[in-house]
Amino acid sequence: MKFHTAKNGAGVTLQTLIVAFLFVSLLVVLGGSVQACPCNTVTVPESDPQYNNTDGLQFSRTRQYRQEFESAISAARLYCEKHKNVSHRAIVSDIDETLFDNREFDSASPQFDRSKWMRWVAEERAPVHKLTANFLSWARSQGFAVFLVTTRGEDTRINTIYNLVRDSVAYDGLFMRPAGNKQTHQALKTAFRKQIQEEGFTIVVNLGDQFSDLAGGYADDCEKLPNRMYFHR
Ligand SMILES: [Mg+2]
Repeated sequence: MKFHTAKNGAGVTLQTLIVAFLFVSLLVVLGGSVQACPCNTVTVPESDPQYNNTDGLQFSRTRQYRQEFESAISAARLYCEKHKNVSHRAIVSDIDETLFDNREFDSASPQFDRSKWMRWVAEERAPVHKLTANFLSWARSQGFAVFLVTTRGEDTRINTIYNLVRDSVAYDGLFMRPAGNKQTHQALKTAFRKQIQEEGFTIVVNLGDQFSDLAGGYADDCEKLPNRMYFHR
């Protein structure tokens, strides 16, 4: 599991460099293999200790946020590059705060308001996080199917598709919360990944900004993007 937490002002000592060199050497000796994240060991905490409703938006504009985002996407791409020959390979990606950037909405509505959220979704104009969009586009060019798994409701399918088209995002499946479904985010998303694998795909990387995007298994590797604006179980 990679949480991609950047450290502010961390000094690099000679000892650190030596340890890093020995570690990299060991990887080379072992064939340069990239370790799979044990996704079936990821759990959803009662709360996210980093979550803070008052400064989550501000954090998203910091260098540390960008570094954590870049680190997660880089790790996802590296893992895919090492697994380009997997049969029926696929990527699963969350949408909100992973692919879509809703900070304009979050800035205007710091306290979540469902009716305002639905109006924002209906505007179909959320921009993408370019790092994620570029990664998904690259993965698709390398033969990975791209499945978007979201707890947005089925009643927003048309709005979501038009927003994706507007942002030129190509994908192969869009899994959304069915009408009346009351499962937790984690349970619903795990069920969708199980369905995808039962259909014959191997989910090589699962990408999301919430622990509930990742917990539950059914992926070889998972990558956690930063989000201190909200927390979903
Ligand atoms: Mg999300």
